[in-house]
Amino acid sequence: GIQDIATPRRTKEIIQRHGFSFKKSLGQNFLIDQNILSKIVNAAGLDDTKGALEIGPGIGALTEKLAQSAKVVTAVEIDQRLLPILEEVLAPYEHVKVRHGDVLKLDLREVFAADFADVSKVSVVANLPYYVTTPILMRLLEDKLPLENIVVMIQKEVAERMAASPGTKDYGSLSIAVQYYSEPELVCTVPNTVFIPQPNVESAVIRLRVREVPPVEVVDEKHFFEVVHAAFAQRRKTISNNLKSRFFTKENRDTLEPLLQQAGIEPSRRGETLSIEEFARLSAVLLEAGI
Ligand code: SAM
Repeated sequence: GIQDIATPRRTKEIIQRHGFSFKKSLGQNFLIDQNILSKIVNAAGLDDTKGALEIGPGIGALTEKLAQSAKVVTAVEIDQRLLPILEEVLAPYEHVKVRHGDVLKLDLREVFAADFADVSKVSVVANLPYYVTTPILMRLLEDKLPLENIVVMIQKEVAERMAASPGTKDYGSLSIAVQYYSEPELVCTVPNTVFIPQPNVESAVIRLRVREVPPVEVVDEKHFFEVVHAAFAQRRKTISNNLKSRFFTKENRDTLEPLLQQAGIEPSRRGETLSIEEFARLSAVLLEAGI
């Protein structure tokens, strides 16, 4: 429609009138394409009973679409210079709240209690600042917030690592961390021409359906993720050598191979071939042996 923020013309008009200049250090690449915005919003499955949390609204391109699809929208923006712009462009939408701050420092449980008490479900929907993609997503997942979906525009390479299967070159500790908490699905890849200014990397939209329960039973999550990280410390090394370097001494290193066998894992395999189930078994066997 005529009011859309995300067109090249309206975006340029808004930033010129407010004398706004892009800050690369804040990952400011604004969307100027209606088609991609529809794809992002549709992937989130919002309706007028649900809430949306946006991280980094910029000048409100995506916020406006969320306002038209959800019951309540909260948008967290770190750049104070954008606040007067957001106040102006989002004036027609009373159910949108803009919070000023760094999403990594915000108490999100408090935000949920304050803003989303009256909605059935909440999804995070965002065109993320790429310099903090992984910390933001891991924080959302690890905090175990009551989320339905996380639909985000991120660097394509990162999206591929998150969705990767065992045995592929992209599979690693990030794949396991994301897949432990969610079911990732690549929604689409995105040409650089949908942004102003254009980022130097390729982009993609990914949807993470947040799991209500993990796909495997893990006795001690901290230990499980330590084993995962150790397994990928040196990608070319076998699982046996990587675990020895991290958890064993000269004295007890001979005890590892029987433990691997007990977990049903060939010592000569590499970390990148192990499924989440195998990592869970391995962590349980090591824990039981006091490692
Ligand atoms: N949503 C807008 C769009 O799609 O056009 C802007 C997206 S832009 C890629 C990322 C936005 O995140 C910028 O507005 C930036 O100022 C904001 N941002 C960067 N770091 C942030 C942080 N730690 N917390 C909250 N917002 C942040």
